[in-house]
Amino acid sequence: MKSGFVTIVGRPNAGKSTLINTIIGEKIAIVSDKAHTTRNNIQGIYNDEEAQIIFIDTPGVHKPVQTLGKYMNKQAYYSLEDADIVLFMVDVTENFGKGDKFVLDKLKECNNVFLILNKVDKIKKEKLFSIIDEISKEHDFKEIIPISALNNDNVDDLIKTIKKYLPVGDKYYDDEYYTDKSINFMVSELVREKVLTLTKEEVPHAVTCIVESFEETEKSAHINVMIIVEREGIKKILVGHNGSMIKEIGTLARCDIEKLIGKKVYLELFVKVINNWREKEKYLVEFGFKEENE
Ligand code: GDP
Ligand code: MG
Repeated sequence: MKSGFVTIVGRPNAGKSTLINTIIGEKIAIVSDKAHTTRNNIQGIYNDEEAQIIFIDTPGVHKPVQTLGKYMNKQAYYSLEDADIVLFMVDVTENFGKGDKFVLDKLKECNNVFLILNKVDKIKKEKLFSIIDEISKEHDFKEIIPISALNNDNVDDLIKTIKKYLPVGDKYYDDEYYTDKSINFMVSELVREKVLTLTKEEVPHAVTCIVESFEETEKSAHINVMIIVEREGIKKILVGHNGSMIKEIGTLARCDIEKLIGKKVYLELFVKVINNWREKEKYLVEFGFKEENE
């Protein structure tokens, strides 16, 4: 038996969360076309007869502007220290640039770094070869693997290669777990994903969600989720004309939550303004972005 930790790093939008979801076969990490969608380290646990691989989806290493951004970076570095393998993921449709170099610079001390070229469904083979030439000069990668995380293309090869490098060891988690996150966390994230998908510009990142109550019977669940926003203006946008926006967020989130827990869901959403919550330590603790006294 082999077991170990695989951390996925790369610029925002490279497709890190998509890869985790594809590998685990469940929606563990929310995905959107907005940068900084992922805010916490999320573990996705893969099991087969030969190995247990714990994938860590990081919020991405980037230059922090706000207090929240600072804690997101710290989480990414934590998981690099524990990693047996690091997947450095790039989006082949974007030019390799400063952002990638900034991330790669943090990997100097890591032993097993794989270059993962994602979104190959969007480019021609010849282009792929020249990209490999260019990026492989930047670091001594142990493996170079092109994939499409979205189409589940060559992902099985990636798993096979990871297994070669994993240390021999026992499982860290029982087979029935596929993530380290609570059901409440996953529910609040699904609501946040719909906010990200349906709104634009400044709204997405000024929002956080928490489950206020979760009451379950055998056949259904009643869930209340509070959406916290930074300003009154953002609350107005989220509620929408005659409540149309909040209704749409609720409908889409409810469908996903029903899939997640496998029963009927009654979802109620509330919007609350807490001025500049991202800058306040108290709320970052309350919403789980940092430990107390950190
Ligand atoms: P992250 O910020 O690195 O976690 O990136 P996400 O997983 O949130 O993905 C960012 C965007 O890229 C989303 O719109 C995904 O649907 C898209 N995406 C991810 N992987 C692929 C892929 O293999 N091919 C294509 N065409 N799009 C992808
Ligand atoms: Mg992500």
